[in-house]
Amino acid sequence: MLVVMQAHAAPDQVRAVCQKIESLGYRAHPMPGAERTAIGITGNKDALEPGTLDEMPGVQEVIQVTKPYKLVSRDIKQENTVIRFPGTDAVIGGPGLAIMAGPCAIESREQAFAVAERVQRAGAQFFRGGAYKPRTSPYSFQGLGEEGLRIMAEVRDRFGMRIVTEAIDNESLELVEEYADVIQIGARNMQNFSLLKRAGRSQRPVLLKRGMSATLEEFLMAAEYVMSEGNYNVILCERGVRTFADHTRNTLDLSIIPAVQRLSHLPILVDPSHGTGKRNKVTPLSRAAVAVGADGLIIEVHHQPDQALSDGVQSLYPEQFDELMAQVRQIAPVVGRTVSPIGIHTPAAAIPALPSGTHPVAPG
Ligand code: PEP
Ligand code: MN
Repeated sequence: MLVVMQAHAAPDQVRAVCQKIESLGYRAHPMPGAERTAIGITGNKDALEPGTLDEMPGVQEVIQVTKPYKLVSRDIKQENTVIRFPGTDAVIGGPGLAIMAGPCAIESREQAFAVAERVQRAGAQFFRGGAYKPRTSPYSFQGLGEEGLRIMAEVRDRFGMRIVTEAIDNESLELVEEYADVIQIGARNMQNFSLLKRAGRSQRPVLLKRGMSATLEEFLMAAEYVMSEGNYNVILCERGVRTFADHTRNTLDLSIIPAVQRLSHLPILVDPSHGTGKRNKVTPLSRAAVAVGADGLIIEVHHQPDQALSDGVQSLYPEQFDELMAQVRQIAPVVGRTVSPIGIHTPAAAIPALPSGTHPVAPG
């Protein structure tokens, strides 16, 4: 159920409705919009009797939401969600494309710095890299763990990029949220509901990758898990699904971008690296992703891909990433998007430290 407040409803009236919802044993999710606030009601009890809230001051209408997902839906919030990182030029979901780049895994300080220097110069506002790697084989490199997170934090201090890294379970999430700016939930964990709920209680934005066989509805329901716990800063990411095709590692489903944008206010990025698994296909599909209207890209780049400890064959050489960015810069304006200027970022020293326990971003 959804309560739509009147355009001029006072903050006190919104608060009173939320308190009433909570007193009845449900959870209230106020979502301020440009014109009015809507309040989502969740909870695993029977549906609330609509008459209970209809007559409260400031309430315009109470709507029964028929879709299985509520908080991710445009029914509750028409405007796109924009996630900002105060003190930096990094934004996800605005007119500017969010560009995330870096190695699959953090392998050493030297490797991370070598790649970071290049992707920052090319215009990435976010540095990606795994410290905890969900590998198909238990004998493959599993990541440096907390040491990898420390290296990423150094990269942020040195280059001013925001840090995106994966949490593979509740234990690693505790550490990831201490160090990172964005918590990645990988494709293999898209339906790990306890992890999604834990991420929903974090203060950090969550980058949620599509499971390799997830339908659009399952994908949105996974985001709903995070939001239902109170974390409204969710970024979706298409990274390819498993099909019979064997010329690529996965089949990148770009049609999900407009499909998501029609139903949800959440930003959606494209990962053509995992989506194709082949270096020579990453640039063409990045161009396509921007053209189709994605809110940004997440790309694997390695300075020595032939020596990478994971996903070397799909990692771009830094020069290839430069070229990709040059092409993206040309395509972006055609679809009304902008791209951050090359290598210009807020110097690290100007980035205010986050007081612990506060929310790093204002929900858009
Ligand atoms: C990754 O980003 O390195 C990764 C493991 O991605 P995915 O979960 O999409 O396979
Ligand atoms: Mn990878």
